Amino acid sequence: MASKYETVIGLEVHVQLTTDTKIFCGCSKVFGQEPNTQTCPVCLGLPGALPVLNEKVVEFAIKTGLATNCAIAPRSIFARKNYFYPDLPKGYQISQFELPICEHGWLDILTENEAEKRIGITRIHMEEDAGKLVHGETQESSRTSFVDLNRACTPLLESVSEPDMRSADEAIAYLKKLHQIVVYLGVCDGNLEEGSFRCDANVSIRPWGQKELGTRAELKNINSFRFIKQAIEYEIERQADLLDSGSQVVQETRLFDSQTGTSRSMRSKEEAHDYRYFPDPDLVPLVIDKAWIAEIREGLPELPEAKRLRFESEMGLSAYDAEILAADQALAAFFEACVPLTGDAKLCANWVMGEISRQLNEGNIAITDAPVSPTRLAGLLNRIKDNTISGKIAKNVFEKMWQSGQEADAIIEAEGLKQVTDSSAIEALIEEVIAANPGQAAEYRAGKEKLMGFFVGQVMKASKGKANPGMVNQILKDKLSG
Ligand code: ADP
Ligand code: MG
Ligand code: ZN
Repeated sequence: MASKYETVIGLEVHVQLTTDTKIFCGCSKVFGQEPNTQTCPVCLGLPGALPVLNEKVVEFAIKTGLATNCAIAPRSIFARKNYFYPDLPKGYQISQFELPICEHGWLDILTENEAEKRIGITRIHMEEDAGKLVHGETQESSRTSFVDLNRACTPLLESVSEPDMRSADEAIAYLKKLHQIVVYLGVCDGNLEEGSFRCDANVSIRPWGQKELGTRAELKNINSFRFIKQAIEYEIERQADLLDSGSQVVQETRLFDSQTGTSRSMRSKEEAHDYRYFPDPDLVPLVIDKAWIAEIREGLPELPEAKRLRFESEMGLSAYDAEILAADQALAAFFEACVPLTGDAKLCANWVMGEISRQLNEGNIAITDAPVSPTRLAGLLNRIKDNTISGKIAKNVFEKMWQSGQEADAIIEAEGLKQVTDSSAIEALIEEVIAANPGQAAEYRAGKEKLMGFFVGQVMKASKGKANPGMVNQILKDKLSG
């Protein structure tokens, strides 16, 4: 049943940057180290320590802004966002408020009915992350919380979208697109589980036709695309139930519980912080040279959108295939390396999306570590193209290539898998099969043409799968009708 309400979603995403060092000090920021070993007076927030901006963070922000069609501000300001929490040593977070580095961007997504839709990006700004609280797990420490400041001062980009999405699917499409871009740019490792790409979803509903937005709830820190979709869908239903029963939605922050698929209130608007933002006097305004922006623009890699379109127009792939291959830079590179070696983009696409991806998923292997290289795969595909082996046998050969690291030709040779294309050999097999099944042959001749499949199967079996299927079909037809 169609809903009485229209859904409205705006997304805030925190992107953790892959710089070697933190945003305002030289500490390393490798994940999973001993607590408080990656700290210094700056990120510990000791009095008198002064922040120094990491140039790489600015470069990554500009890259991301350009790739998402933002305007890069020639002058931007760092601000203090004041609140008290034990994981925030200074009592404020350095962020950007009134003058962020990037504004007025957009991304185009494909909606459920395959139409393109533009989602506005209000702003992208730079900020530092807070530390982490570790709650005691042993009997003695169960009433104690510990502070780990390794993550304090880790560089983040926060991107804020316009409330332009109208369904959970649109929200996921937008998130995946943004995720692809930051991973393509190499500014983020994209790991949702480790918190490198964190999303807060703002969700409201309104009766169809109403102009003003409904009251929103904000869903916090959900760490997989699947859970984000689930959390949004749960929230849409929860709000609809409230309105249907004559109640109202209250503005609040909610925490999603992936165990139950539901969420609960964390704090209401009344309890929300007043952050008392003001410009940070320790950091000078950031003035960005136009030439630097131009240089970064020049150096941007081909982005997924452009790659997808090129795969469609230059290589003749379907929109679907092009989308899947372009979504992953390494997969796309593998595919592109394979194409000129076979001259058959469609065949390469099928194998990269099929057998190669399957093996990678099953073994949880990165494509850069695949035991079958693009050259090796092309070697196999060329044996299909020149009819040395059938597509079916090729799958077995591929399996063996993956296990042994050998080339296709060596396996085909060693196992005697060469396809039989000698028509007299095939004819002999066919005659045997017809002689062994006189009843079926008679029925076929009497008009039961369905039996063709039976005969093809018998002949392929007799040849151990090696007979050229096209020739088998052809010769069978001749023999049976003769
Ligand atoms: P805050 O900083 O308090 O979270 P913002 O005004 O910066 O508030 O909005 C944050 C996000 O919420 C943005 O992505 C925005 O598009 C979205 N948003 C604002 N109002 C609504 C609404 N009524 N329904 C859905 N999303 C909304
Ligand atoms: Mg918010
Ligand atoms: Zn430090």
